[in-house]
Amino acid sequence: MLALTLLLSLLVNLPVGYVVWKKQSLTVPGGITTAGIMGFLLFVIHPLFWTLLIVFFGSSTVLTRYRAKDEIKQEAMTLAEKGGERDSKQVLANGGIPGFIAILILIQQSSIPILDISDSLVVALVVAFAVVNADTWATELGVTSSKAPRWILDPRRTVPRGTSGGISTKGLIASFLAASLISLTYSLFLVAYGQFDVSLPFVVILGGLLGSLIDSFLGATIQAQYQCPACKKVTEKTFHDACEADTEPYRGLAWFSNDLVNLVSVVVVVLVSLLLW
Ligand SMILES: [Zn+2]
Repeated sequence: MLALTLLLSLLVNLPVGYVVWKKQSLTVPGGITTAGIMGFLLFVIHPLFWTLLIVFFGSSTVLTRYRAKDEIKQEAMTLAEKGGERDSKQVLANGGIPGFIAILILIQQSSIPILDISDSLVVALVVAFAVVNADTWATELGVTSSKAPRWILDPRRTVPRGTSGGISTKGLIASFLAASLISLTYSLFLVAYGQFDVSLPFVVILGGLLGSLIDSFLGATIQAQYQCPACKKVTEKTFHDACEADTEPYRGLAWFSNDLVNLVSVVVVVLVSLLLW
């Protein structure tokens, strides 16, 4: 029966997800569709996973609007590859790993009918959500920091807001709160299912923070960065709207996009937490 459910949800989800992925023009509807499919899949597997997805997308959407009209935020977001509205690639970069782990859990569940939500794969899934939530909050809130962010590779240096690899106190606090919210949600489920273990909430918070730092580190090193020839600003974009100019390669690997950085930071933290747990 479980195998049938898995097969059915794959048959329904994969083709739709593929089409949405390919149709880049459908930025927001694409993102919503992909998220919808993921929601369906996660819901089928466990209400905890679905709730985490809702907490992640819900809080991200609210924070995207936070000070969205501020010049400081708009200026910062012109440097980021994508900010605010999420497209399907971003949804997959963020939700792909939790979704993948959920499928592993589903397969494992076919032999163990009652899911132990303190199981290591479940912890890995929750940590993955903590990382993506921390990254999103750190970006949306961090760029509104009144002080210029510091360069992660050399904290004595400041960089313009929105620069990959820039970190601020506000961004770090945002990461901590974001990971804590995921941790709190998980803890409520652990209590409700009578599986609470005091170390679990800390693993989730630490995982989220670590993921954010890895994300910034990769952003400062291997992520593709470009420079606008007109204003000399460093950006993730290949075209600088403000100057209407094509940007030139500046740093990092051309194929290492921001989405890929998000994905890699989640994978690294999940593997670390699986090894430690
Ligand atoms: Zn420019």
